[in-house]
Amino acid sequence: MRYVSTRGGGQPRAFSDILLEGLAPDGGLYLPEAYPRVDAATLERWRRILSDDGYAALAFEVVSLFIDDIPAADLRGIVERAYAPAKFLEPSIVPVSRLSDGLWLVHLSNGPSLAFKDMAMQLLGELFAYELGRRGETITIVGATSGDTGSSAELALLGKPGVRVFMLSPADRMTPFQQAQMFSIDDPGIVNIAVRGVFDDCQDLVKELNADADFKARHRLGAVNSINWARLMAQVVYYFAAWLRISDGELVSFAVPSGNFGNIAAGHVAREMGLPIDRLILATNENNVLEEFFRTGDYRVRSGPETLATSSPSMDISKASNFERFVFDLLGRDADRVRDLFAVQVPAGGFSLADDPAFAGCAERFGFVAGSSTHADRLAEIRRVQETDGVVVDPHTADGVHVARTLGVDGTVAVLETALPVKFAETIVEAIGVVPPRPARYDGIEDLPRHVVEIDADAAALRGLIEG
Ligand SMILES: *Cc1c(COP(=O)(O)O)cnc(C)c1O
Repeated sequence: MRYVSTRGGGQPRAFSDILLEGLAPDGGLYLPEAYPRVDAATLERWRRILSDDGYAALAFEVVSLFIDDIPAADLRGIVERAYAPAKFLEPSIVPVSRLSDGLWLVHLSNGPSLAFKDMAMQLLGELFAYELGRRGETITIVGATSGDTGSSAELALLGKPGVRVFMLSPADRMTPFQQAQMFSIDDPGIVNIAVRGVFDDCQDLVKELNADADFKARHRLGAVNSINWARLMAQVVYYFAAWLRISDGELVSFAVPSGNFGNIAAGHVAREMGLPIDRLILATNENNVLEEFFRTGDYRVRSGPETLATSSPSMDISKASNFERFVFDLLGRDADRVRDLFAVQVPAGGFSLADDPAFAGCAERFGFVAGSSTHADRLAEIRRVQETDGVVVDPHTADGVHVARTLGVDGTVAVLETALPVKFAETIVEAIGVVPPRPARYDGIEDLPRHVVEIDADAAALRGLIEG
């Protein structure tokens, strides 16, 4: 299996090369040259593997189709460490449940940071450690988080030889629980940096450092955001697991709370592989840049001030970094057009495919439908699900439930849960007047000593910390 850039530059690359590289040198994103296809007999074999041997065994089957430059025995070890049941609140790792209105919930937030990002980050951490060890190299991860990515990455990379992490977050913007998750980590390889500014300032600092080729090479800067193909690949697995647990063979639609288009891009890959998915239901919050595209064909990138701070903050994005992968497939993998759209038109504000015949393919060929949700919708949904089923969903999952219900898609519909409500207690209290339940292993984390340095939004200050 080789990987190509969505912008057509360079030669096809091996998995282990693109793992450490992240973004392609031409600015594009990596995708497999062709998606592996899975037939009905394989799905039935995987059904037995999942029920007899568990999630890690299924994950090995799926990722083996995408990785051919790691020996099978090593890959099995990597996957088994990533998805060791003891790390998760539920040994089945991705359980499913059904609400009384018929919607299914796919529980993806039982990992160490209590958000679905662990499902990918745990595998990424093991893959990094393996590949760096094999090459005798080190890596410095410089990342920006608005809340969930930071703790998920730190808990996955903690103690991994050869890996240092510098994680930037906007000072005092994350919830107290999210802050405690990161700042309670006491390890010389993990440096938490609170930037006096907003998330965009953090993101800009990361970009500025990465644009300095000299600094980047000297410190071997690497990335853990969802532009990394390995994260998407890991997420493909849970679409298979969820389908196998919900369906006897019939089609299932998935509703996916979306920000950077990573989670739902993995659903697109699973569907292209032949998993019987009917609709991919994209759910946004008030920052509806993606919903607008699927409704109108216009991809209109928002400016910083135009990006609203909402009560589902992990979806507050102005442009979706993974969207380019879907557009590449939508346009029949025409890399020249993708390069023009994303290297020229997006920096100028966006593009329109409204008059392009390919646009109809979003729904007809690729199954995409979309909707959005507001603060009031989200609160009402949290309240409704709590009243009817005694289940508390987090605000992002509530956006997914809201869109799944209001679009009225026929057949079996599953909503991907993206975080546990304890991460967003304030909004839950506003919705139902009670503090959300907290897993016992997180009792009192807000009282632990905090390990964080505060800096101005200034690249020189950040460089100083990395240079030590
Ligand atoms: C990251 C995140 C999202 C958005 O996922 P994308 O892959 O960026 O679309 C939604 N909900 C929560 C809780 C998240 O942490």
